[in-house]
Amino acid sequence: MPLTIQPLIDLANTDLELQTNIFSRTHLERQIDTARSVVDKHQKLFEQKNGDISLLNNEGSEVKKNIQIQEQLIVRLDEQVPKIRNEKEFAASKSQLEEARKLLGMLEEKMLELDMKKEDLDQEVEAINTELSESNSAFQEKTAGLLKKHEKVEKKISKLEPRRDRLLKKLPQKIKHFYERCQLSGISTPVCAIRDKSCSGCHMVLLPQLVNELMANPNSHKNCPYCSRILYFPEVEEVVES
Ligand SMILES: [Zn+2]
Repeated sequence: MPLTIQPLIDLANTDLELQTNIFSRTHLERQIDTARSVVDKHQKLFEQKNGDISLLNNEGSEVKKNIQIQEQLIVRLDEQVPKIRNEKEFAASKSQLEEARKLLGMLEEKMLELDMKKEDLDQEVEAINTELSESNSAFQEKTAGLLKKHEKVEKKISKLEPRRDRLLKKLPQKIKHFYERCQLSGISTPVCAIRDKSCSGCHMVLLPQLVNELMANPNSHKNCPYCSRILYFPEVEEVVES
């Protein structure tokens, strides 16, 4: 005959195991995030510099277009020179040509400046890229164990959660409601054992009378007077377990 308290004990143990695993998961995730932050920093810088390069490229093609326009204008002006008939036309053509050549010179200088900037940026990006892939492999190496552990913990949680729900369903309605209320208000382990004459949930020392009562009748349960968790005396744990 199974003891009626057994489902509660099973639930308490499952919950405790579940909480431990959830705690480990959070801890592992924090460690992984910290390790990843180095990679993220390099990744961000890499993207930023690539953005700078594409801006520079846009500016460069704009300048190139303007260079072409000026070159074409100069060709056209040059072609018109033999057709010039008087001094006035000649002066006008001359100043137009001078203007176009001046502009072309400025544009070419600008282009040179952009090319130099781009060369520097390319070098910077290359260095950042090296750092990025180095930090990435360092991350992989460092976190391989952590990721494996995380996967394991995740698997365990996904087994424990349905088990807890199954166990919860076996409980009397009254206890089930109490249990759910507790978990909603943040008490993650609503059922717990008496350990060392104290409530293992809130760690308050219990009155000897309460401990004795539960010890004398291990198939019963009582609420902790301090945190109202359901208390049981854990000796039955060793008795039942098939
Ligand atoms: Zn308590």
